[in-house]
Amino acid sequence: MRSHLLNDVTAESYRRSVTEGVERVAMRLATTRRPFTGVTPDELAPVISAVDLDQPLGNASAALDELERVYLRDAVYFHHPRYLGHLNCPVVIPAVLGEAVLSAVNSSLDTWDQSAGGTLIERRLIDWTAQRIGLGPAADGVFTSGGTQSNLQALLLARQEAKTSDLAKLRIFSSECSHFSVQKSATLLGLGPDAVVAVPVDRNKRMQTVALAAELERCAQQGLVPMAVVATAGTTDFGSIDPLPEIAELAEQYGTWMHVDAAYGCGLLASPTRRHLLDGIEHADSVTVDYHKSFFQPVSSSAVLVRDGATLGHATYHADYLNPLRTIEERIPNQVDKSLQTTRRFDALKLWMTLRVMGADGVGQLFDEVCDLAADGWELLAADPRYDVVVAPQLSTLVYRYIPEAITSPTLIDRANLYARKALFASGEAVVAGTKVGGRQYLKFTLLNPETTTDDIAAVLDLIAGHAEQYLGENLVHAS
Ligand SMILES: *Cc1c(COP(=O)(O)O)cnc(C)c1O
Repeated sequence: MRSHLLNDVTAESYRRSVTEGVERVAMRLATTRRPFTGVTPDELAPVISAVDLDQPLGNASAALDELERVYLRDAVYFHHPRYLGHLNCPVVIPAVLGEAVLSAVNSSLDTWDQSAGGTLIERRLIDWTAQRIGLGPAADGVFTSGGTQSNLQALLLARQEAKTSDLAKLRIFSSECSHFSVQKSATLLGLGPDAVVAVPVDRNKRMQTVALAAELERCAQQGLVPMAVVATAGTTDFGSIDPLPEIAELAEQYGTWMHVDAAYGCGLLASPTRRHLLDGIEHADSVTVDYHKSFFQPVSSSAVLVRDGATLGHATYHADYLNPLRTIEERIPNQVDKSLQTTRRFDALKLWMTLRVMGADGVGQLFDEVCDLAADGWELLAADPRYDVVVAPQLSTLVYRYIPEAITSPTLIDRANLYARKALFASGEAVVAGTKVGGRQYLKFTLLNPETTTDDIAAVLDLIAGHAEQYLGENLVHAS
C-alpha cells in the first residue's frame, strides 16, 4: 500500500497516474458535444450505489475507467459554450496547473511552518488585490473558501467594530437583491431575526440610496445601531452594481461599516475597459472577491479584503501547538491569525500562476468579452417579440422570460418557462438558470464563457421557445 503514498520513491508512479487522469479529462473536453447528458438523479444513483467501497480496484487505470461511468460521462461541463447556467466559469489552464501543483505539495496556509513561500505568495496577491481596489496602505486580507465565507468574516469584523454589544440592536442594510449569505451570516453571528434590512432596488436592480438613507435615519431614531451597509457590486441575479459612491457617503455619515460584496463583479478589477464601474469601492471597509467567478479560477478561490488590517485581529486566537503568542513577537507570518479556517488550501497559487502566465489584462479581457456578449445578447432579446428581458446588463447576466402572444394567464406563462428550463436541462443541449422577478418565473443566462457566441444565444432562445410552445400546445389541448 505504500506504493500509493506520494514521495521520492513513487515520483514516477505519480507522474504516470496524474498524466493518465489528465489525458482522460482532456479527451472528455475534446469530445464533449453538449454541456450535460441530461442524466437524472434516479438514473445515476444506482450506478454510484453499486460501487463497493470496500473492494478497491487497486490501480488508477481501473478507477479512472469506473470514474468515466460514475462521474466524467455525465458531469456538467462549464467549458461548453452552451452552459449558460449559474455563476460558474470555464477555468484557465495556468490556474489548473497551479491546482495540480498545490494539491501535490499540499501546503497548508495556516502557519508559516506549514507553507513558507506559500504564505508570502498569498500575501502578495492580497496586496495586489487591495491595491487594485484602492484600499490604502493599511489594507490586508486573506483567501477564503468562497464568497459566503468572505461575507461572514467581513460581517463578523463589522459586528466586533459596532458601537454596541447588544446584538438585538444591530442592523445590516443590504439591497433586496443582495446574496442570501448576508442573511445567513446575520444568523450565524447571533443577530436577531430582523437584523437584515432589505433596501428596495430601482428598475435597474440597484439599491435605492434614498431608501437606504431613510432606513438609516429610521434605525437611528429607533435607538438601533447600524452595524454594516452591504453594497453588492454585481448582484447574483442581475449583475447590477449598487451606487457605491453614494452608499459610501451614507455609511460615513452614519458611522457604519461599509462592506462591498464584489463576489461577481471583482473581475472588473482586472478589466482594461470597465474598471470605472467599480468606482467608489475604494471607500469600503471590507470587500468580498470571488476569483472563482470572474477571474476564471477553479473552485475554490476567494478572498476577503479589509481597509484596516488591524480589524482582522477579531479573528485571531492563539493555540500553543500552532501559533503561540510568541510567534507574533517573533514576527512569524501566520495566516491563521487572519482566517476563520485553520488548515487551509493554497488556493492563491492558482491566481499566481494565472497572473504570471496571462497577466491581469489577460484575465480582464476575458471578462470584458463576456460583458460585451451580454450586451449583444440583450439587444437580441430586446428585439425578440417572444421574450421579455428585465434589465440591460452591467456585467454578464441576462434575465428574461418567454411571453407567448396569445396567452394571458400568468400562471401558465410561469409554468411554460419553468418547463422549458427543465426540458432544456433534460435534453442536455444547453443549461440555463432560472429566478423569480416580482413573483414571476424568469429564466437567466449567466455568461462567463468567452467562447459562447451570439449565435449560441440565439440558438438557445429558439430551443427554449420550442419547449415552451410544446408545453403550451399540450396544456391548452388538455384545457379545452
Ligand atoms: C456567489 C456569490 C456569493 C457567494 O459566493 P460563494 O463563493 O458561492 O460562496 C456571495 N455574493 C454574491 C453577490 C455572489 O454572487
